[in-house]
Amino acid sequence: MKQHTTCPYCGVGCGVTAELADNRLIAVSGDSQHPANFGRLCIKGMTLPETVTADARLQLPRLHGQAVSWDDAMTQLSQAITEALASHGPDSIAFYLSGQLLTEDYYVANKLMKGFLGSAQVDTNSRLCMASTVAGHKRAFGADAVPGCYADIELADLVILAGSNAAWNHPILYQRIQAARQARPTVKVVVIDPRATASCDIADLHLALRPGTDALLFNALLVYLADQGCLDQQYIEQHTQGFDETLQQARQATPNLQQAAQQMDLPLEDLTRFCEWFASTDKTLSLFSQGINQSSSGTDKVNSLINCHLATGRVGKPGSSPLSLTGQPNAMGGREVGGLANQLAAHMDFTPEHIDRVRRFWNAPNMATAPGRKAIDLFHAVERGEIKVLWIMGTNPLVSLPDTERVKRALKRCEWLVVSEPMASTDTLNLADLCLPSTTWGEKNGTVTNSERRISRQQPLLSAPGEARQDWQILCDLAQRLGFGNAFNYQHPADIFIEHAALSGFENQGSRCFDISGLSQLDQHAYDRLQPIQWPVTTTTPYGTQRLFSENRFYTPSGKAHFIPVQFRAPEQTLNDNYPLRLNTGRIRDQWHTMTRTGRSERLFQHRSEPFIDLHPQDASARQISTGDLAQVENQQGRYIGRVRLTTDQRPGEVFIPMHWNHQFSAQGRCNALIQPVTDPVSGQPESKQGAVEVRRFPARWHGQLLTRDNISAQLRGYWSRQPLAPCQQYILAETDWPGDWSNWCLQHLGQRPDGYLENPITGQLQAYATEQQRLKWWLLITPTYQPADLRHMAALFESPSLTPSQRGRLLHGLDSPQHTQVCSCYQVDEQRIREAIQSGCRSVTELGDRLSCGTRCGSCIPELKALLAQEVEHATVDLD
Ligand code: SF4
Repeated sequence: MKQHTTCPYCGVGCGVTAELADNRLIAVSGDSQHPANFGRLCIKGMTLPETVTADARLQLPRLHGQAVSWDDAMTQLSQAITEALASHGPDSIAFYLSGQLLTEDYYVANKLMKGFLGSAQVDTNSRLCMASTVAGHKRAFGADAVPGCYADIELADLVILAGSNAAWNHPILYQRIQAARQARPTVKVVVIDPRATASCDIADLHLALRPGTDALLFNALLVYLADQGCLDQQYIEQHTQGFDETLQQARQATPNLQQAAQQMDLPLEDLTRFCEWFASTDKTLSLFSQGINQSSSGTDKVNSLINCHLATGRVGKPGSSPLSLTGQPNAMGGREVGGLANQLAAHMDFTPEHIDRVRRFWNAPNMATAPGRKAIDLFHAVERGEIKVLWIMGTNPLVSLPDTERVKRALKRCEWLVVSEPMASTDTLNLADLCLPSTTWGEKNGTVTNSERRISRQQPLLSAPGEARQDWQILCDLAQRLGFGNAFNYQHPADIFIEHAALSGFENQGSRCFDISGLSQLDQHAYDRLQPIQWPVTTTTPYGTQRLFSENRFYTPSGKAHFIPVQFRAPEQTLNDNYPLRLNTGRIRDQWHTMTRTGRSERLFQHRSEPFIDLHPQDASARQISTGDLAQVENQQGRYIGRVRLTTDQRPGEVFIPMHWNHQFSAQGRCNALIQPVTDPVSGQPESKQGAVEVRRFPARWHGQLLTRDNISAQLRGYWSRQPLAPCQQYILAETDWPGDWSNWCLQHLGQRPDGYLENPITGQLQAYATEQQRLKWWLLITPTYQPADLRHMAALFESPSLTPSQRGRLLHGLDSPQHTQVCSCYQVDEQRIREAIQSGCRSVTELGDRLSCGTRCGSCIPELKALLAQEVEHATVDLD
């Protein structure tokens, strides 16, 4: 049986065709009819079947570590909320939501809190991702509305990727840009990013600007456009306001390109070229993402970019628009229902008129009347003991919020920490008083909205394991126990969606951009078959709306778009003698967020198997650090340990670490331990990409590779990182002390002395193993230096029901070949094989694909294939197709 649904990872929102048999997901492929991806999926989407097994799931509610019935769990929760309300008032209760929730879950959570409990202490992890764009859109357009659409990619003549490594983070859109450029070679691509990322592979120009100076860049561009007579004067006069003050402000700080180039540490000719291309290309599409948003001046950066589009009249025109790329699958859906603490449902605000309108629509007895706390402030209030009941849904703030040690203190302080979560163990869940098992992708039923305002259905494909429930059902259960049953008597997500759609049209009459009232008459059958559609959807636009603001009418009081004067502000996390390196954090190609799902796929660890540190060779050399060393990144607040990769893709003085690793997968791999909780004053979004740190070599005395049947993370000390292999777990280990007795070490850390043990006194290498009922329990390799071996063949011995003598011999004497970095995750092709193929004559990505199949499926590895071709064939002619 085949069913259409939507990918749960990034904001591209690809359509997925799922193949099912016997309540199992057999395979997935890209939905050829879905307008986001037209049949393609990246590696994360393609490995979805590997992530939906029932093991490692939370299946029953747990109260203080003990399994309890749903009835007990919800009784306890409703009592806790009732007591907190009575003793401390509504603001002592808070929800922290997630862009992983479906719109229907989000809607019910907001309705319960803001309409019935009277608390606006509801925020979402979208605060960490998109809040600056929301604020920027509202300031410029009067509504949180994305003007453009993905179809603009194929129409644009100039594509700008600002603070976006789309090749890894929005791979299918990146592939659309790549294809558009191949079809029309005159299309130009500009990447604005301090790092040379995989997205630079197709860039005609890479502006590797000083981190945090994006607003200077767009201010300089605005001044250039004015000075060169490249403004759309008619558009500015008729459809905008605030241009003169904005230009004046920009000119003050960046009077000319020369000065701006110096401030941004850019070659003047590159900056000039960028300005010339922007000025002369009417069809300019600016895709921007977390590199712009995650900043203490993120909202200003967004507006500085939009200012340039307004100045040239390039908003909502075919091939010409600013287009924000949302990080999460439903970041936009959450915004639609008021998921942020400063919003009400259906894009309404905390104004008396809107509060009253929502109150009447919901017949709400207890409307919140003022915005709640944004994420960082919310967790600080938890730390101060002001929040008595905190309910976290589908997110992992102990990993994703800045200053993770402080977040941990806050969570431990909370009297009632409730976490609803599909997985049995996450850093956050493990601190919870009450754990509620919720459904995940493949079981959830509802809608998500992608970066281009397109609402798509996520369909239930599998039955949920154990007693896991839909988040909206858990919320409705609570509402009933609190006496609000009539308002939360939903039987199906369609009931919720229809109410949400009706609210969007309630007393709207064109005054609010978000309007899907055209979907408010759906019945359940039609809802289940809802085809992807872009909002607004009204009676006059029943098939949706591809672009906004094409008629130059905005949702500001004057109906005109607003220019916003932007004054450049440097990052708040300042460098100093102790912490002289600028820290950048971000995503990698094959993992998603805190790895609760992607961390279950062996394949997705092949590309990057450990937490890592990208460092420029100059900075490494100054610190006597070599590639492959372990190093610790540290500052006054925290520490991160990872494997060093030397690369000139980093600017000197800057460090990059990934955002994904956490205590389920590594000893000290939380990047946010190093990020201070400083935020944008308008949006409340944290400055996640501009930390201040030092890097030191981790003085490892020995290195180890360990295979174990069980997850033994809790028993390990020193450095460790874990990755799942099909029959066992693999750990990479390192410690600063050499144990006097390895047999004792094994007993202490692995729970058993070795059955077999071989130490080479000359090389210092040690191999050991232990069995349990003739089956392999663990296998250990210790070396004085880091020499990773590919252990997949050794791992296969865990499948042997009874080890034979020759297998036991192999455990002590046999070793697999050295481990190489996987480049193509789809076909498991590693770097060594690709280098050998190039050395034996392959001269293009196509030839590599013909020989090894690499790059021929999802295409995410093509930039890396090109980089290897360029490295290996320095002087030969390479067809970088
Ligand atoms: S591009 Fe994003 S939405 Fe599409 S398959 Fe990949 S992760 Fe999923």
